[in-house]
Amino acid sequence: MAIVKETVLEVNHYTDRLFHFKTTRDTGTRFRDGEFMMIGLEADGKPLLRAYSVASPNYEDYMEWFSIKVPDGPLTSRLQNIQPGDEVITNTKAVGTLVMDNLKPGRNLYMLATGTGVAPFMSIVRGIETYERYERVILLWSTRRVEELAFRELLETLNEHPVWGEISQGKFMFYPSVTREDFENTGRITEAMFSGAVYEKLGLPPFDKEHDRAMICGSMEMNLEFKQYFKDELGCVEGSGNSPGEFVLEKSFVEK
Ligand SMILES: Cc1cc2nc3c(=O)[nH]c(=O)nc-3n(C[C@H](O)[C@H](O)[C@H](O)COP(=O)(O)OP(=O)(O)OC[C@H]3O[C@@H](n4cnc5c(N)ncnc54)[C@H](O)[C@@H]3O)c2cc1C
Repeated sequence: MAIVKETVLEVNHYTDRLFHFKTTRDTGTRFRDGEFMMIGLEADGKPLLRAYSVASPNYEDYMEWFSIKVPDGPLTSRLQNIQPGDEVITNTKAVGTLVMDNLKPGRNLYMLATGTGVAPFMSIVRGIETYERYERVILLWSTRRVEELAFRELLETLNEHPVWGEISQGKFMFYPSVTREDFENTGRITEAMFSGAVYEKLGLPPFDKEHDRAMICGSMEMNLEFKQYFKDELGCVEGSGNSPGEFVLEKSFVEK
């Protein structure tokens, strides 16, 4: 596995638990939108790497990352202190299940995220192929507090962005929700899907496995609830590289 050094270009802190950073991109680094790679720091002369979803789309010559800060976390207790000009290390091989190749073609693509689970979807919602494959691209993202909806402004104005708006062609829809304070949408996104609140708000037909596809990434609890819903209640098939299905989820995102 090749390990390369990347230079930190920009760092943005949102809360005491969340930050985003941008790095250079090695010319040998290839990924599909939605995939993850190992990234980290040299610590005590050894590589200290963790899995991270690439949050930028694959046509950009830089890479974006969205990170938790775990107070005693071996990597993030250090990584949260990076500054522009510092070096991070990554491998150049990306993998992951949250890729469109693992889904059958369809009409509407739903991306369902909690917390930092939105990272792979930040890549997909700005991806070129995404809008070639789907008529509507819908992101549901919940956090505990409004300030944790770090990319809210970007997402709310994505269709008007000079570059990403050209790519999304007005097909992108965003449903943010928070669980612990007042906001335009409150509560868990599982509930918003199960009750139909999201369809009502966005003016969409209910999820139909004949036409619609879903990607899931976030807390274990949400993963399991959605897995049960799509598989057991709606009769959807989980997709993989060998056999595309109607939904995919990142199994090991938070708990290992
Ligand atoms: C496929 C995959 C993709 C991932 N992508 C991302 C990503 O894009 N952004 C990101 O911040 N993390 C991501 N993670 C988690 C990441 O690999 C690390 O666990 C995280 O950076 C913390 O590293 P650490 O060494 O500081 O602490 P660790 O020892 O790795 O984690 C300590 C504890 O912190 C909690 N924790 C870890 N990550 C998170 C998280 N993201 N949200 C909430 N609680 C968490 C867990 O309870 C964990 O047991 C991903 C994990 C996997 C398996």
